[in-house]
Amino acid sequence: MTLRIDGKLLADEIVEEVSKEVADFTAKYDVVPGLAVVLVGADPASSVYVRNKVKRAVQAGLNSIEHYLPADVDQKTLDDLISSLNQDDSVHGILVQLPLPSHLSENRIIEAISPEKDVDGFHPQNVGKLSTGQQSLIPCTPLGCMIMLERQLGDLSGKKAVVVGRSNIVGKPMASLLLKANCTVTIVHSRTKDIEATCAEADILIAAVGQPKLITESWVKPGAVVIDVGINAIEVDGKRTLVGDVDYDSVLSKVSAITPVPGGVGPMTIACLMKNTLTAAQHQLSASLD
Ligand code: NAD
Repeated sequence: MTLRIDGKLLADEIVEEVSKEVADFTAKYDVVPGLAVVLVGADPASSVYVRNKVKRAVQAGLNSIEHYLPADVDQKTLDDLISSLNQDDSVHGILVQLPLPSHLSENRIIEAISPEKDVDGFHPQNVGKLSTGQQSLIPCTPLGCMIMLERQLGDLSGKKAVVVGRSNIVGKPMASLLLKANCTVTIVHSRTKDIEATCAEADILIAAVGQPKLITESWVKPGAVVIDVGINAIEVDGKRTLVGDVDYDSVLSKVSAITPVPGGVGPMTIACLMKNTLTAAQHQLSASLD
């Protein structure tokens, strides 16, 4: 029997856990952890993400602060906003929704966010700490994937893990986390030769590609655990629908567990943002008392 890993249910549990810890934190420090979300422009997908993040922040008991900037905002205005959020003691986490319009530098903004408030885990200091096995703020999507894997498999030590995709926000940090959990890790990507055969050896297969239903039955090992990060909008019978990078129906009877799209990794990403905001607040407050 294949297990369908319910990301929505698990995300609800995590937000519930975070909200209890937030209440303890607030009772201890008389401070409500604050998450500032910055959205530039009105891209429909980004607007939906931001709305969901704000909703979850409220459920978790966090103080949600939103900044909506016009699509033609200049770099200096955005830099100045980040600088003021860095200095604001009521803000413990800062998230700038990506992608940014092309006239703005994403790298400059990521580097401008204080590493202690970088709840997306994209700042080079956090990236470096993760890849050297030090404690850091971890990118939300791979963190959510690890929580699902560990709840499903327990100890991951010695498992063969294959990550499809090498992006900075998913593929690379995912590989670092799996390595930290003592997996034997392979990253495959658009230039990999014989990608299907490599994937078919994986005990754990993570798909983070952005290609609808790329991964089919012949790509998976019997009994594998498959985590599908991909979110792709396609048209079926004239209706817009979301599918993953994995052809769910094709692999279902062969794998031991799989995340659906939607309802798998997506909700976990947002739940982990709440977790990271609490973690950031805990570190900032305990550091200020040192
Ligand atoms: P990206 O475009 O930055 O990277 C895609 C990676 O896939 C690249 O490294 C590329 O080499 C590789 N790739 C492309 N075509 C390939 C192919 N045919 N075979 C093998 N590898 C190939 O994308 P990303 O930001 O990492 O996102 C990947 C997917 O995950 C997207 O669908 C995105 O929407 C989704 N995503 C979901 C969440 C979530 O919360 N569920 C979060 C982030 C991204």
